[in-house]
Amino acid sequence: MDTPLIILGTGMAGLGLARQWRARNPDHPLTLITADSGDDYAKPLLSTGFAKGLPPERLAQRSALEVAEQLGAVVRTHTRVTALDPEARCLWIGEERLDYGQLVLATGAAPRPPFAIPVGLADRVFTINDLDDYRAFQTALAGLGRPARVAIIGSGLVGCEFANDLQAGGHRVALVAPEPAPLARLLPEHLGRALGEAMAEVGIALHGGRSLTAIEAEAEGMALGLDNGQSLTADLVLVATGLAPRVELAEAAGLTTGVEGIVTDRYLATSAAGVYALGDAACVAGINAMYVQPLQAAAKALAATLSGAPTPVSYGPWPVLVKTPLLPVVSLPPREAPARWRIEGEGRDLAALAEDVDGRLMGFALTGAAVRRKVELARAAPPLLV
Ligand code: FAD
Repeated sequence: MDTPLIILGTGMAGLGLARQWRARNPDHPLTLITADSGDDYAKPLLSTGFAKGLPPERLAQRSALEVAEQLGAVVRTHTRVTALDPEARCLWIGEERLDYGQLVLATGAAPRPPFAIPVGLADRVFTINDLDDYRAFQTALAGLGRPARVAIIGSGLVGCEFANDLQAGGHRVALVAPEPAPLARLLPEHLGRALGEAMAEVGIALHGGRSLTAIEAEAEGMALGLDNGQSLTADLVLVATGLAPRVELAEAAGLTTGVEGIVTDRYLATSAAGVYALGDAACVAGINAMYVQPLQAAAKALAATLSGAPTPVSYGPWPVLVKTPLLPVVSLPPREAPARWRIEGEGRDLAALAEDVDGRLMGFALTGAAVRRKVELARAAPPLLV
C-alpha cells in the first residue's frame, strides 16, 4: 500500500488543499491530523457570530467525521504532532510513529499576547483563533447572564471586527491599542480615524495611543490599568494583538524558518525534501500574507504539484474586506512605504491611493461608500506575487 499524504492542520489551508488534491487523486491514502476538533469552518466568520448569537455549531459546515467521509481520509482530531523527522519521512505523536510519502504543514498561526495572561484570570482573558476559542468565549458571555463589559486589546482587523460584532450583539466594548487610530496596518491614519469616529458614535470606547499596564481581578470583573494612569473595568478581556506563524515543529526538525513563517519557494516546498507548507504558517517566496485568498491560491497550486504537475503559486492584487458594518472598509496595503497617500472623498466616504514617485498605484484603502471602487482599483494595482 502507498504511504499516505499527511496534511498537518485542518484549517482553511489544510482542508482546502485536501479537497483539491483528492479531486486529482481519488485512490491514494490521505491522513489529516489536527490539534483541534477538526470541524470544517470558515475562520473569518468567527468575528461575525456574536452579533447574531450564533452557536459554534452554526459556524461549522461539517464535522470532522463528515470531512473524513467526504474526502475518503483518516482524520485524527485533538491530536498534537510532537516531532518531524524529514530524513526518515515520518512524524511523531508522542511515542507513536507515522510514515508519510509527502507531508504538508498547514499549522496556521498562534495568538501572541504581549503579556502573560495572569494565573487565575484564564477564564476571563481570551484570544479567539479557532472554533474552540469561540465556544469558550461564548460560554463566558452566556455565563454572565447580562450584556458584558468587554475590553478588546488591539485594534487591527481582528480587534476591530470583534469590537463591531460584540457591540452589535448588545455588549459594552472598550478598544485599547497603542496606535492612535484603528487598523493602522491597513489604513492611513485619516481613514482609521473615520472608522474610530463611527465606532465612538455607537458607544465603543476608544483608547488609542494607550497600552495596558496592569490587569487584576476585582469583586465584580477586572480592573485594567492603562499607561496614562486611567483604569477600566471589564468582565472579559479579548486579546487581539496579532498572530505568529507556528514554526516550532519545522524549526526543531531543522527546516528553514523565520519570524515570517516556514520558508518555502513558489512551489510551496520547504527546505526538506517531501515537506511542503502553506497558509498562515508559511512564508512563500518572502511573503506571509495570512489571508484566505493567498492560501486558496497556494492550495490549488500545491494540489497540482503534489499530483505530479509542478505549479508555482501566484498571488493577485487582492484587497482585504474588513467586516466592520459600522463603516465598511477595504484595503490593499502597499508592500513598501508609498511616496504619498492621495486622499479623495468626503466625510467617511474616503479613498486613499498609495502612489510611488511616478504616480503609479501601489495600493489603496477605502471606507464607507468609496468601497464600491474596490474592483476598479484592484485591477490597476500590482499583484502581490507574480
Ligand atoms: P488555521 O486555521 O489556524 O489552522 C491551523 C491548523 O493546524 C489547525 O487545525 C490546528 O489544530 C493545526 N495544528 C497546529 N499545530 C499542530 C500540531 N502540532 N499538531 C496537530 N495540529 C496542529 N482572512 C481573510 O482573508 N478575510 C477575512 O475576513 C478574515 N477574517 C478573519 C477573522 C478572524 C477572527 C481571524 C482570526 C482571521 C481572519 N482571517 C481573514 C485570516 C484567515 O482566517 C486565516 O488566514 C486562515 O483561516 C488561516 O488558515 P490556516 O489553515 O493557515 O490556519
